[in-house]
Amino acid sequence: MSQDLRPNGIVVDLEQRLLQINWNDGQASVLDFDTLRRACPCAECRPWIHDLVRTSEVRETPASVQNATGELKSVQDLQPVGSYALHFNWADGHTFGIYDWKYLRSLESIHGTRET
Ligand SMILES: [Zn+2]
Repeated sequence: MSQDLRPNGIVVDLEQRLLQINWNDGQASVLDFDTLRRACPCAECRPWIHDLVRTSEVRETPASVQNATGELKSVQDLQPVGSYALHFNWADGHTFGIYDWKYLRSLESIHGTRET
């Protein structure tokens, strides 16, 4: 994958609770908010990503995360982090996750990753 992967555009649909990212390689990812919330990459939700836990058997997302609902109150709850990531202020108060472009691209798009 290109090192220069980044979005050309991001569309937030608060009503459908969807985030569409139009990538600079011509692909698009459509991610629903629940998927995004449950994929939170912070140290609390996914300690193994951060090397806090090194054994494979604990690679389990807590049930509270698996069943979380992704709600955003406004488009302001979605903020860029420098030029490398997005940050979500989830309505449930969980705001730790920094989702970098590569991670967002790796998440399952609800229509499959497709050409724009
Ligand atoms: Zn988290």
